[in-house]
Amino acid sequence: MKRKKFLQVSTIAVTGSILAPQWACKPKSEQTIPMLPTERKNWAGNYTYKAKELHEPASVAELQELVKKLSQQKALGSRHCFNDIADSPGHQISTRMLNKVVEINEENKVLTVEAGARYGDFSEELYKRGFALPNIASLPHITVAGACATGTHGSGVKNGNLATPVVGVELVKPDGSLVQIDNNHPDFYAIVVGLGAFGIMTKVSLRLEPAFDVRQYVFLDLPMASLKENFEEIMAAGYSVSLFTDWMGEKVSEVWVKQKVEPNMVEMGSDFFGAKSASQNMHPIAALSAEACSDQMGVPGPWYDRLPHFKMGFTPSAGEELQSEYFIPMENAVAAMLELEQMRDEIYPHLLISEIRTIAADDFWLSPCYQRDSVAIHCTWKQKTPEVMAVLPKIENILAKYNCRPHWAKLFTIDPKLLEERYPRMQDFRKLADVYDPDGKFRNHYLNLNVFKG
Ligand SMILES: Cc1cc2nc3c(=O)[nH]c(=O)nc-3n(C[C@H](O)[C@H](O)[C@H](O)COP(=O)(O)OP(=O)(O)OC[C@H]3O[C@@H](n4cnc5c(N)ncnc54)[C@H](O)[C@@H]3O)c2cc1C
Repeated sequence: MKRKKFLQVSTIAVTGSILAPQWACKPKSEQTIPMLPTERKNWAGNYTYKAKELHEPASVAELQELVKKLSQQKALGSRHCFNDIADSPGHQISTRMLNKVVEINEENKVLTVEAGARYGDFSEELYKRGFALPNIASLPHITVAGACATGTHGSGVKNGNLATPVVGVELVKPDGSLVQIDNNHPDFYAIVVGLGAFGIMTKVSLRLEPAFDVRQYVFLDLPMASLKENFEEIMAAGYSVSLFTDWMGEKVSEVWVKQKVEPNMVEMGSDFFGAKSASQNMHPIAALSAEACSDQMGVPGPWYDRLPHFKMGFTPSAGEELQSEYFIPMENAVAAMLELEQMRDEIYPHLLISEIRTIAADDFWLSPCYQRDSVAIHCTWKQKTPEVMAVLPKIENILAKYNCRPHWAKLFTIDPKLLEERYPRMQDFRKLADVYDPDGKFRNHYLNLNVFKG
C-alpha cells in the first residue's frame, strides 16, 4: 500500500464502538470459541495464531479453572503485537471479557482494573473524577496488562513506560492459584514486564495523578543540523515530544510538542529551533488529513485526549502495516539518527513514517528502558514482510554499538545471545520464571527463542 493511500485509510473513523462503554462489563458470550477452521490473526493481520483453541473466560474463577486444567497456554490481550509473543502451541486465554474497573481508591489515588481493560475504556471517567495516568501509548485500544507485559511506552524525558505507574498485580499461577504481587514484593520488577511468562494477570493497580490538561503544538521541517545541536532541549520542550521523519531531506518533518497546562504558561512561538509552527492541525504525514488527529494549535484538552496522537473514536491505522522499534541510550540518539539517515535509500521505499520518542529509565528487569534513559526509534512500515525483514538486520547492525534493545511487541531479528548481553537481569528472569512455571505452561516459540535460549 502506498504511503498516502495507507494514511487515507487510517483516517477513517471506525464504525461502531471500538471501545467498551465506560466501566463496561461485557455480556457473557461463548466461553470457548473453536479456533479452526477460521484463521485467527493479530490486529495487523501479519501473523496467524497457531494456538489450537481460544478461550474467553468471563470471570477470574473461570480463568483460574482453565489455567489449572490446560497444559500449554498463553494470555492474549487486544492482539496488537506484530510477532508471535502472544501465541501458544496449545491454548490462548483472552482477557477480553475481564475488562471492568474494579476500584478507584480516591484516598490512596490508586486505580484497579481487570487485566483486559483498555486505556480508552476508563480514561475519560478518570478525568471526570479528577485523575490522570502519567502517560499513554499512541493508541488507547490496547489492554493494560498487554501494554505492561511488553514495556509499552508513550513519550517524555521524565515519563517512564506504561508499567511504571503499576503498584500491584494479581496473577494466576499455573496451578490456578491467585497471588498478589505489590511493588514491595521481591519478584515485582520481573513479573510486571513479564512477557506473559509467569502466569496470567487478572488485575492491575495503577498509581494515579491529579487530572491535567495538555496543549499540543506541531512544528514543521526541523533541520537535522538543528536537531544535532539542540536534541536534549528539543526533547525536553514539552511533557511529551515526538519527532516524525521519513529520513529524507535532512530534516525532521514534524515535531509534536505536548505541554502540560500550567498557570501563567506562555504560548509557544512560531519558531522552534528552526522549525516553523503549523498553521493548521497536522497528520504525522503532512500531506494527509488531520481529521483523526488529536487537537493541536495549542488548544487545551484533557490528558487522555492530547497525549495520544489520534482521537479516541478513531483508529490510528487500518492495520495494514508492520512496526519495529529500537531503544538506545539517550546520549547516543543524535549519532544513531545521523547514521540511520545514511540508510535512507534502503529505508524509505518500505517506510510509512518513523517516530522518535524518549522514555525515562525504570527498574523492570526486561524493560527495554531498564536502568537507561532511552530514545526509541520507531518505524511504521508498509506491510511488505520480506522487504522489511531484510532491512531490520541492517538497522540492528548500525544500532548494535549502542546496545539497542528491541520493542518486545514489534518485529526484530536480534540474536538471542545479544539480547542476553543487553539485559543484565535476563538470567535472573529465566530462573524466576522457572520457579513460577516449572512445567513451562506459559512458554511459546517466542519466549523459548528470545529469553530461554540464551
Ligand atoms: C497501531 C499500534 C500502535 C502502537 N503504539 C504503540 C506505542 O505508542 N507505544 C508502544 O510502546 N507500543 C505501541 N504499540 C505496540 C503495543 O503497545 C503492544 O503491542 C502491546 O503489547 C499491545 O497490547 P495487547 O493487549 O494488544 O497485547 P497482546 O498482543 O494481546 O499480548 C502481548 C503480550 O502480553 C501478554 N499478556 C497480555 N495480557 C496478559 C495478561 N493478562 N497477563 C499476562 N500477560 C499478558 C501476552 O501473553 C503477550 O506476551 C502499538 C501497536 C499498534 C498495533
